[in-house]
Amino acid sequence: MPLHTAPDVERIHRTAPALDAPFADVMAGSARWEIRVHDHGFAALVDSMPRMVPTLAGQAPTADFAIVQAARVSYGAGTKKISEDRGLIRYLMRHRHSTPFEMVEFKFHMAMPIFVARQWIRHRTANVNEYSARYSIVADRFYHPALEHVRAQSAGNRQGGAEIASAATAEEFLAYLQRVEEQYADYQRLLEKGVSRELARIGLPVSIFTEWYWKCDLHNIFHFLSLRLDEHAQQEIRDYARAMYALIKPIVPVACEAFEDYRLNAMHLTALEIEALRSGRALASDNKREQAEWDAKRARLGV
Ligand SMILES: Cc1cc2nc3c(=O)[nH]c(=O)nc-3n(C[C@H](O)[C@H](O)[C@H](O)COP(=O)(O)OP(=O)(O)OC[C@H]3O[C@@H](n4cnc5c(N)ncnc54)[C@H](O)[C@@H]3O)c2cc1C
Repeated sequence: MPLHTAPDVERIHRTAPALDAPFADVMAGSARWEIRVHDHGFAALVDSMPRMVPTLAGQAPTADFAIVQAARVSYGAGTKKISEDRGLIRYLMRHRHSTPFEMVEFKFHMAMPIFVARQWIRHRTANVNEYSARYSIVADRFYHPALEHVRAQSAGNRQGGAEIASAATAEEFLAYLQRVEEQYADYQRLLEKGVSRELARIGLPVSIFTEWYWKCDLHNIFHFLSLRLDEHAQQEIRDYARAMYALIKPIVPVACEAFEDYRLNAMHLTALEIEALRSGRALASDNKREQAEWDAKRARLGV
């Protein structure tokens, strides 16, 4: 058939939803579900795939349906009982059978400071469209933590913050941020003098906000969340990850329950750790970090 020929619409077979399973919108007719993060940030869910799903009597419409639908391709059978669907999703999660989770996608609109966006963008499996500071003027919005949220450098973790900094040091830090933010007036003045937007922006700090649309499938969102909800991730990106998780959880509740049980709150044991546990002997490693990790796991296990 030549490429320019329109499809013969009469030959498209359209399947109507079964009468006992009317279709419903997983976002209940909303265009946007938004959670504010910090002073100027937000995470907003703007779309879901699937969006319309069959509803079973007495059940809220959820996109868990699409995971089960894909997984059952081998059987050729439709959705079974709720309990069987839950068992299947939990089995898939436990056994890292990940492709059915890729059948669900979520699209977000987000505003976050550039230092958070830099960590976020490392997650390569998403589709991203970011605000262009070459094309548009960057708004006067900065991440400015509250005094009680200024963290001191952790002694044990070179990459992390620990306890709260002393009030005097925190005040000095916030005054420094204030001076940096005041330079926004120079950015504006130089734009007005004719400096191009693409160059004028290079003096802006990483605390200024950017925005983007970010679309990703559920398997890779779970991967993102397992890394960015973790206590080793920076607090600010964890705040966004928590908001994102709160937005998707009502839409894929069974998948999220499985994610929490088998990944987020689960624990991986190395071969050395299993041997130490089995034999009751010390961990066969003189690596300090590995030993500390084992101590933390033992504390969690209560052994
Ligand atoms: C606490 C923490 C500290 C970090 N510190 C640093 C740091 O100091 N410096 C730094 O540079 N980064 C750092 N990172 C970023 C980190 O190294 C990863 O780049 C980031 O977490 C994204 O992980 P990912 O590649 O698994 O995820 P994604 O890019 O979302 O990819 C998901 C999965 O898809 C697969 N995949 C994607 N792309 C490819 C590919 N091209 N080839 C093969 N497989 C692919 C992989 O299985 C991957 O795990 C840190 C991350 C965390 C959570």
